[in-house]
Amino acid sequence: KVILGIETSCDETAVSLVEDGRKVLISLLSSQVDLHRIYGGVVPEIASRRHLELIFPLLDEAFRNFPKEKIAAVAVTYGPGLVGALLVGLSVAKSLSYALNVPLIGVNHMEGHIFANFLEDAKPVFPALVLVVSGGHTDLIFMRGFGDYELLGETIDDAAGECFDKVGRVLNLPYPAGPVIDRLSKKGKPIYKFPVARLKEEGYNFSFSGLKTAVRVFREKNPDAKVEDIAASFQEALVRALVENTEKALRDYKPAKLYLAGGVAANSKLREEFLNLGKTYNIPVHFPSLQYCTDNAAMIAAAGYHRYLLGKFAPLNLNAYPSLMLGEERY
Ligand code: ATP
Ligand code: MG
Ligand code: FE
Repeated sequence: KVILGIETSCDETAVSLVEDGRKVLISLLSSQVDLHRIYGGVVPEIASRRHLELIFPLLDEAFRNFPKEKIAAVAVTYGPGLVGALLVGLSVAKSLSYALNVPLIGVNHMEGHIFANFLEDAKPVFPALVLVVSGGHTDLIFMRGFGDYELLGETIDDAAGECFDKVGRVLNLPYPAGPVIDRLSKKGKPIYKFPVARLKEEGYNFSFSGLKTAVRVFREKNPDAKVEDIAASFQEALVRALVENTEKALRDYKPAKLYLAGGVAANSKLREEFLNLGKTYNIPVHFPSLQYCTDNAAMIAAAGYHRYLLGKFAPLNLNAYPSLMLGEERY
């Protein structure tokens, strides 16, 4: 069964055709980052308008080699994300579902990020511990099976990706700064010790706003420090905080597998440290290949396929939910 995936929750317009939740026939993406770069972040109004311009050419391209009459269902992100941006993908998905007379499937964007793993992982094992780190989320999740998520911890302020991007601004790097800091770090040394908040409460929550401020203050006081060294030191501190909580949950919950998901899962240092965790605790580790870490539609089609098998079809009046929670069902 071939599922058409549509993703427009933020600043990436994406469509994909995936067979049986695993075989990516095509994955197209038109990023708007250049458009938003001068503003240092995503401008919601511009994003929605651009999605509208980009979505049809992308669909035409996807259907050039695969006739649309042969798709089994349309899966679309219905939250979380920017409401205006979500509505563009949702309207197009509904129209296609109606015109082609195939089921409409609403997909949670964060569940999509997690399912990016299952595009490639031939052996999903549960229960699993999943760290979802993206532009808007930092969630540590105990996953007992597909669709069964327990949130163990989350950020109490900035998300990991947001922290990368804000520190990027402090260091005068282009948006999005995550990949740039990753690259610069390889040429620098983590010689500065930046503090990461240790939360006093029990549990697995994260806090990154203090780290961001520490880097800003350091930069102001040390204008001559090498940006490569600051980048490496910052990345080291942030990754250490992510790994510490993950390790704590590993010990407490004893999962059978460890997964990484979301845009920050592309970070080379974080990937390296996760492999180390796997070795130390003798459990398998999996993360998506780089192209499926950041926003894409193949992950939406993959999560959509899972819902397709369960018969979780959405009505044509499905709405967009900007703050949809993982595991929350709105239809
Ligand atoms: P959400 O998924 O929470 O709604 P989003 O969709 O905007 O947010 P993603 O597309 O998953 O976020 O990820 C984008 C984020 O990932 C950006 O903050 C970007 O800086 C960060 N990022 C991308 N590559 C890397 C990298 N190699 N190292 C660190 N951060 C990275
Ligand atoms: Mg994005
Ligand atoms: Fe995302």
